[in-house]
Amino acid sequence: MKYASVIVDISLQKLDKTFDYEVPAELDERIKVGVKVTVPFGSRQITGYVLKVREETAFEKEKIKSIISVVEGSLRIDPSLIELAIFMRDRYGCTLNQALKTVMPSKKTVAKKKTRVEHATVEAKEPTEHIALNSEQQAAVSGILSDLSKPALLHGITGSGKTQVYMALIDEMISRGKQVILLIPEISLTLQNIRIFHSRYADRVGVINSRLSAGEKYAVQSAAAKGELDLVIGPRSAVFVSFKNLGLIIVDEEHENAYFSETTPRYNTVEVAEMRALLAGAGLVLGSATPLLDDYKKALDGRYRLFLLKERAVENSKLPKVHIVDLREELKSGNRSIFSRELAAGILDRLEKKEQVMLFLNRRGFAGFVSCRSCGHVVKCPHCDVSLTSHAGGRLICHYCGYEQKAPTVCPKCGSKYIAAFGIGTQKIESLTKQLFPEARVLRMDADTTSGKAGHSRIIESFSKGKADILIGTQMIVKGHDFPNVTLVGVIAADLSLYSNDFRASERTFQLLTQAAGRAGRGDKEGLVIIQTYNPDNSTIRFAAAQDYEGFYADEIDYRKLLDYPPAGAMLSVLLTNPSEEEVYSETEYLIGMISKKYADSDLHLIGPSDTGIKKIQDKYRRMFFVKFPDRELLKSIQNDIIKEPITSSVQIDIL
Ligand code: ADP
Ligand code: ZN
Ligand code: ZN
Repeated sequence: MKYASVIVDISLQKLDKTFDYEVPAELDERIKVGVKVTVPFGSRQITGYVLKVREETAFEKEKIKSIISVVEGSLRIDPSLIELAIFMRDRYGCTLNQALKTVMPSKKTVAKKKTRVEHATVEAKEPTEHIALNSEQQAAVSGILSDLSKPALLHGITGSGKTQVYMALIDEMISRGKQVILLIPEISLTLQNIRIFHSRYADRVGVINSRLSAGEKYAVQSAAAKGELDLVIGPRSAVFVSFKNLGLIIVDEEHENAYFSETTPRYNTVEVAEMRALLAGAGLVLGSATPLLDDYKKALDGRYRLFLLKERAVENSKLPKVHIVDLREELKSGNRSIFSRELAAGILDRLEKKEQVMLFLNRRGFAGFVSCRSCGHVVKCPHCDVSLTSHAGGRLICHYCGYEQKAPTVCPKCGSKYIAAFGIGTQKIESLTKQLFPEARVLRMDADTTSGKAGHSRIIESFSKGKADILIGTQMIVKGHDFPNVTLVGVIAADLSLYSNDFRASERTFQLLTQAAGRAGRGDKEGLVIIQTYNPDNSTIRFAAAQDYEGFYADEIDYRKLLDYPPAGAMLSVLLTNPSEEEVYSETEYLIGMISKKYADSDLHLIGPSDTGIKKIQDKYRRMFFVKFPDRELLKSIQNDIIKEPITSSVQIDIL
């Protein structure tokens, strides 16, 4: 007799264990690890996944029930993905069932004629051009291939030709009979960006993006599992694609926010990719011009191998010149427009020369901070050194510790009355641009203009074909796009992201400014970047202007050390969500009480709770608290306590 351990499809912490069932003789052939089955559970029938099949059981054989059936049409989970799901459960505090659902391929099957994937729609194959690698690229490729047992961090400036490095690595994997997963942030999965892969790998590459239907996604996933593909390109969920002989995972733009899942389990794709590569015996390559501080630290600490690309790849292409413009001076000279005199003159000049301009508004993480337009002073939390967020009724609140104060009416630093919540939108900039430059053709790209299936791709395509002179947008416009005719990039107000309400604000700003600057002068014409700001002396802005990643890293890591923020210190971020405000509050209080009592003797530092800036999302109330402690191992045991000992099982707890 065989017994199967089954995890039932109920995401409750107290049911997050396996139950044993008898395997009936007629199902013997079909019951394998990863198969979806229907089983009796109490008085009901529910589905679940087989995690183990054994000859023995520790349960009383008389009481064990039988599996009822195999769920028809369901996909079997790759057994190594079960291991990955277990890792995710332990790391992010979700149930095993939630983790399994995340690693599973989308289950919908599809009518035959719809199985054509997106590459069918790509224009006729261009003759494949093979660019010879330059010496830096060549050194990176052979260095990475010489030892795949440790992850490699490819730190290459914007325009240094990382894509060519990826393709050389992919070619080598294919020649070894292995497959590759290439992760690209969703926003960059445009036809323009993947065309080069289609022309090189033709029907051996599958592309996944959010515009595909569930059926189309399934077609790519099953083609990969069947061995019909050598390469799958996709956003973070593509890290779970099944391959017979996975050789390499590449994470492009590894610093991107999109690699952090925003639903349970709130996984970090780079971490998951590292574990997946380890389980599969595959290599891992992380590429970026602005690596996450955490990952760069790992490289410096010797956990990752570091490879550098310091030059732009296109002949005669140089990094752009960067000018910082002080908006306080503009105000003093009576210019109240959002365009400094230098930026306005620069735009006029480009319009005359028929070159293109990008105007960038770094609104990411923008959370309504209060600042002074005369001196640039920003109101911050006295305990956490992050900007306070302005709320209704003139209150300013700290998103970490909940500290609250009234919004000042005069600047505490210079006494000016020009102190208020900072704010400006892309629509406003669009209309002001059209007013000032009536002859210019203007395109705007933000969440509003990119809705619909191909909205984003369409705007990128038409700008790159020269159908507009000026492209205005949020961070969407700076994501790895290659527009050779753009010679001027204007950053409207660098302050916007600099004072978002979390400790990574400077890092995010450095990334955005560096990436934005990287859009200018990618062809053979020289590029200029104008960064407008009320804080021209801010070191983050200075390092970004100098394109000095190492300088920024050294500066920022000192700040993190000083305040014990990661990656210098260890910090646990705990997010609680539930439709009932009362339950979220009482569970938070309970957990904080439990931890402070149990760890009373250690010098652990509890911060919060606070309502995360946004109190409610999709009808669920949110509370957050943070635990800082230098000892990572102890922090892990605190994490376990948090997951294992809640009083109510209905509140969702995520470890970020
Ligand atoms: P990154 O991703 O590092 O910002 P890309 O991969 O987009 O850079 O490459 C930037 C440009 O450089 C592209 O137009 C690409 O075709 C070109 N390029 C890459 N490698 C070479 C090379 N070895 N010789 C000439 N041009 C190259
Ligand atoms: Zn002031
Ligand atoms: Zn605070």
